[in-house]
Amino acid sequence: MKVILASNNANKLREMQQILSPLGWEILRQKDVGLHLKPDENGETFEENSLIKAEAVMKASGLPAIADDSGVEVDALDGAPGVHSARYGGESCPDDKARNRYLLRNMEKVPEGSRGARFVSVITMACPDGTVISARGELAGEILRREQGDGGFGYDPLFYIPSEGCTMAELTAERKNEISHRAVALRNFVEKLR
Ligand code: IMP
Repeated sequence: MKVILASNNANKLREMQQILSPLGWEILRQKDVGLHLKPDENGETFEENSLIKAEAVMKASGLPAIADDSGVEVDALDGAPGVHSARYGGESCPDDKARNRYLLRNMEKVPEGSRGARFVSVITMACPDGTVISARGELAGEILRREQGDGGFGYDPLFYIPSEGCTMAELTAERKNEISHRAVALRNFVEKLR
């Protein structure tokens, strides 16, 4: 079966291709089929946004499309940045480094023991026959006071995972793909498919 990954984020595409590879599907990227859609992610939940992305690509291509919507929720910030993780800090934070500095500034006064957070991923597949399958994955951790590690992307260098004894950015790609929120969501998704 041919499916399209409805993402333009090269990091996410790589991780999703690796995790989905055991299914034996022919996995295409939007650009493989000449699509360059950037649908408005104006939903209020990860579920809504992943459906918006998957449906837009499915409708434009006529093929089943799979989208991930993800982000980090910080307890001390009432769940922010959440669905706004990719755009946190607005135009004054144009890249991951700037967004990480912005997050650290907003958490300056948050003491140790109250820096809990979780990565969340919702994977949604939208099919031309109207079938929609959606699954969520989460990973609990804590936000450090400075970046640690060079791997991964986004908030990974700030996200300490107590059970691993290191940040997400210090994990190998293989380990991240075993335990990440996206890996958990994709496993739950594959379960639902069966
Ligand atoms: P989306 O493309 O709207 O789903 O935005 C997801 C955003 O959440 C990314 O741009 C990152 O800032 C953050 N994010 C999602 N997954 C990860 C991850 O695995 N590591 C670090 N940051 C992530």
